[in-house]
Amino acid sequence: MTELTVIPAANAELPEPRRNRHLINGEWQDSADGAQFERLSPSHLVKASLSARAGRTETDAAIAAARAAFDDGKWRGMPGKDRATLLNRVADLIDANRERIALIEVLESGKPIAQARGEIEGAADLWRFAASLARTVHGESHNNLGTEMLGVVLKEPIGVAAIITPWNFPFLIVSQKLPFALAAGCTAVVKPSEMTPSTTVILGELLIEAGVPAGVVNIVLGFGDPVGEMMSSDPRVDMVSFTGSTGVGKRIVAAASGTLKKVSLELGGKNPQVIFPDADLDAAADAIVFGVYFNMGECCNSGSRIIVHEDIARALLEKVNALSARVPFGDPLDERTQVGAIISDEHQRKIDAYVKQAEQAGARVEIGGASLGVPGLEGRFYQPTVISGVTPDMAIAREEVFGPVLSVLTFTEEAEAIRLANDAAYGLSAGVWSENIHTCLNFARNVQAGTVWTNTWMDGFAEMPFGGVKESGQGRELGRYGLEEYLEVKTIQLRVARGRSFWVRDR
Ligand code: NAD
Repeated sequence: MTELTVIPAANAELPEPRRNRHLINGEWQDSADGAQFERLSPSHLVKASLSARAGRTETDAAIAAARAAFDDGKWRGMPGKDRATLLNRVADLIDANRERIALIEVLESGKPIAQARGEIEGAADLWRFAASLARTVHGESHNNLGTEMLGVVLKEPIGVAAIITPWNFPFLIVSQKLPFALAAGCTAVVKPSEMTPSTTVILGELLIEAGVPAGVVNIVLGFGDPVGEMMSSDPRVDMVSFTGSTGVGKRIVAAASGTLKKVSLELGGKNPQVIFPDADLDAAADAIVFGVYFNMGECCNSGSRIIVHEDIARALLEKVNALSARVPFGDPLDERTQVGAIISDEHQRKIDAYVKQAEQAGARVEIGGASLGVPGLEGRFYQPTVISGVTPDMAIAREEVFGPVLSVLTFTEEAEAIRLANDAAYGLSAGVWSENIHTCLNFARNVQAGTVWTNTWMDGFAEMPFGGVKESGQGRELGRYGLEEYLEVKTIQLRVARGRSFWVRDR
């Protein structure tokens, strides 16, 4: 059996559990009925936070506050320059509070501390990027409609945005949405995942400190039922921006259909990477290992589906297996750890069930395939796992495992590789490894995905749009498109000629 790299308990001092309340119309509030929920740390099984649990009353109040703050016109009427100043101030406060945000993010999500710090830095960068966009909101003019007419296309904030986020990148994902909504002039109701509420609440504190007016951002803590469902169906909400599972995304579309509000969806993925025989195998193996174990594999962009040419499959597998054993799994509070704890017991069981099912269907577990004991910690961890001999019909080849589990399929012809890559309900990201630019471009142009990485995996930039096709979602975040999501188009048609008949007057 291959020896894995396990980082034992760092015995770090743990903070007192955080106490979280809703932010409604600028005030921190408990729930009217006193309901609460707690979050245990996945790695240490200690209480990380205790949060107010919203019902219909709090959700209704938050939506009303966001509606009023939009309708009074002050926020959307504020010059973009001033909104940009505010967003930049939030970015500076995020930087100044990086350590405390990162620590609670680790305790609630199980992700490693060094990674969490990087995410908080990345989030601050998104607030700065959105600040720069706040000054660029503009439409177009049409001066070629004939001498009598002038056309103006205005871009306006869409209104009240409901923002619903998942547990895997709590602070980063809210920062892919909220600053862009605010830059556009929208107001918002935000619901973080019930597993990871704290860093969104800290963000609320920073927003107040930065001077964001009451009611512009409201935060409601709680579950999909009733909070998320109300946010998706209420007629006072103009759009829903959701990141999460495809199943819940479909429910949100159904809930939103009653009012035909706009829905932006960032959903799951079963992201393929195709490795051609001329690829740099060392670079590919390194990126594959990063792509599948990053954030414990609990990542929409997990590169969980490798499609490798038959001639190089064994050579690549040997490299991937050897690197997998070297990745430090263990206590997320240790600086050396690169892979931390699994989010919940239920999820750990789900990951294991996929692995066992694949084994029974004839696939081979090359490394891992079971839960991982970390000395000194009670929490739940899963071994780095590589499964070869996977066929396209197996669940592990088609469904999102959302764990540190790599499925390896093989191909012999280029067209077959592209067909296999597209053989999934998802279409979030895809990758290609080859030294031949024509091979890379042919793949990039034919694969069904929102993002294609060539000879790399999971790079991301504030400037580059991100999103999925097929059942991976609709709409885009980041880049200029990330701002456009929150803007509505209004057409103004001006008759500028005087004294001419419009229709019947001169007849
Ligand atoms: P989830 O769908 O279970 O929950 C996401 C959020 O939706 C949570 O806040 C939850 O409380 C809320 N919710 C649950 N039921 C709801 C309902 N009926 N109406 C409205 N809201 C409801 O997802 P998760 O388990 O937190 O996150 C993992 C999923 O997110 C994975 O499928 C992953 O691929 C996806 N994800 C996608 C991206 C992306 O950018 N494409 C990024 C990160 C995560």
